[in-house]
Amino acid sequence: MTKAANGVQAAGERRFDVVIVGAGFSGLYMLHKLRGLGFSVHACEAGSDVGGTWFWNRYPGARCDVESMQYSYSFDEALQQDWHWSERFATQPEILSYINHVADRFDLRRDISLDTRIETAAYDEAAAEWVLTTQEGTRIVARFCIMATGCLSAARIPDFPGMADYRGRIFHTGHWPHEGVDFGGLSVGVIGTGSSAIQAIPPVAAQAGHLTVFQRTPNFSVPARNWAMTEAYEQSWKRDYAALRRRAREETRSGTIYEFSDKGAFAVDAETRRREYERRWQAGGANFMHAYNDILIDKAANDTAADFVRGKIRETVANPQTAEALLPHDHPLGAKRICVDTDYYETFNRDNVTLVDVRREPIERLTPAGLRTGERDYAFDAVVFATGFDAMTGALDAIAISGRGGATLKEAWSAGPRTYLGLMSAGFPNLFTVTGPGSPSVLSNVIVSIEQHVDWIADCLAHLRKHGIGTIEPEQTAQDDWVAHVNEVAHRTLYPQANSWYMGANVPGKTRIFMPYIGGVNVYRQLCAEVAAEGYRGFRLVGAPALQTGQERHAAL
Ligand SMILES: Cc1cc2nc3c(=O)[nH]c(=O)nc-3n(C[C@H](O)[C@H](O)[C@H](O)COP(=O)(O)OP(=O)(O)OC[C@H]3O[C@@H](n4cnc5c(N)ncnc54)[C@H](O)[C@@H]3O)c2cc1C
Repeated sequence: MTKAANGVQAAGERRFDVVIVGAGFSGLYMLHKLRGLGFSVHACEAGSDVGGTWFWNRYPGARCDVESMQYSYSFDEALQQDWHWSERFATQPEILSYINHVADRFDLRRDISLDTRIETAAYDEAAAEWVLTTQEGTRIVARFCIMATGCLSAARIPDFPGMADYRGRIFHTGHWPHEGVDFGGLSVGVIGTGSSAIQAIPPVAAQAGHLTVFQRTPNFSVPARNWAMTEAYEQSWKRDYAALRRRAREETRSGTIYEFSDKGAFAVDAETRRREYERRWQAGGANFMHAYNDILIDKAANDTAADFVRGKIRETVANPQTAEALLPHDHPLGAKRICVDTDYYETFNRDNVTLVDVRREPIERLTPAGLRTGERDYAFDAVVFATGFDAMTGALDAIAISGRGGATLKEAWSAGPRTYLGLMSAGFPNLFTVTGPGSPSVLSNVIVSIEQHVDWIADCLAHLRKHGIGTIEPEQTAQDDWVAHVNEVAHRTLYPQANSWYMGANVPGKTRIFMPYIGGVNVYRQLCAEVAAEGYRGFRLVGAPALQTGQERHAAL
């Protein structure tokens, strides 16, 4: 694969109108969009190629859980007509080749510096510019800085005692070796049972001599029932792609078209409900969650669906003790992102797979041979950490970001992320986050949310340029109101009842606050459009220093 033709030089300084950090789905579309508007723009990517999530997460079984016909860009009609997905839910390699195709098709690589990690981003108030530094010390200066650093890109490995002692191989699903891993005949431990683990465990078990799965929290998973793409299904989308995409964006809460129900779970009798759950279970995918419209709002409604899934787990897993250990009881169904699997529960019927419940038998430390729990020692040739991410804030936290008066983002967000619309944060002018906390982001088909943010940010920059405005920044009150609203809406649902990564609960010491905006992609999109139409209501727009107006322009502009 080709590298950037004009990568950032090892030393020195480069200047652009806009710098983008990250070259996943967000960074690539942002680059394409701003280049089209005539901005000088450059993207810096820590990885050695484009792709973001799909560049890093190469573990066996990795695939999207939103159907491929929907988990793809919609911004270019020819692209969506030309591309052919080979399966209902595409594999990681196929998604990565799609992203590479997009990078080549729109000639994006010439404005991307690969292997370029941004370590600091400091706002120079006098010049109204962002100054970024790379790990090699190069300075990149730009009027606008767009963080397209990803919600799930800061992989997290728990800090077990004895990590350095372990002599076998250690992997993290989010940093998988490009050459792949041959587990053939090996004794393997997988730590974690979230989305990545649930995808990885069946193929690893099929290869390994023995697989031991260490589970802290059982998660709900529904079968994918993946299939090879059919011409008829592909055409059912492509015939009317633009209208269907519009419907996903404007009429759904998750940016994904499912088979929505307009009924509550108790509007029908128990047998009708069971049949409906069964029908959706057999069809596969997260469509299961939409059987009734109150599953994520009403605990009793949720229980009917959760009980159905627990029943399926009991039916599938032969060993009653193992089945019991796999049953989630501590959170409502869907209050953690629902997992979508292929043969996950069936895998525990294999002779070479053991489940260890670490709530009963906590992991105490890694040892040279493997790990020690409260009960016994386990020996492994390889350990796979499927322990997830420091979600939504982790990648931003890893960059030393300082805004007005040298105040750091870390400090500003110490009690949880504070943004206006998930797009910007007060005290950090001209710094945007794509799918930032406070926006629907991970609660949606993320590509739909990415496209909406990129379009909004691009329109905003074009507006500022047209009106000679130098900086944009949220007003403190608008931000405070938004943070309160995000929190209030979340608490009308069952989501905060789970110790999820949405809440930061998977990272010790992280403030527990519900980070994404749950009000719905459709509602949120409308709100963002209204804010822009009303002259960027709630943002402070200030004249460009270059114009030396020194005059503050508010929403009336
Ligand atoms: C295993 C997995 C499966 C997923 N499946 C789905 C799915 O089915 N449906 C769905 O909607 N979403 C899914 N997601 C969420 C997924 O992250 C988004 O859909 C989408 O790919 C995010 O794109 P992005 O460009 O915003 O972020 P990313 O793809 O995370 O890209 C961010 C990029 O920024 C780079 N970066 C970060 N910090 C720096 C820095 N300091 N300097 C330079 N570069 C930096 C990273 O290296 C990375 O390449 C999944 C996530 C994972 C991990």
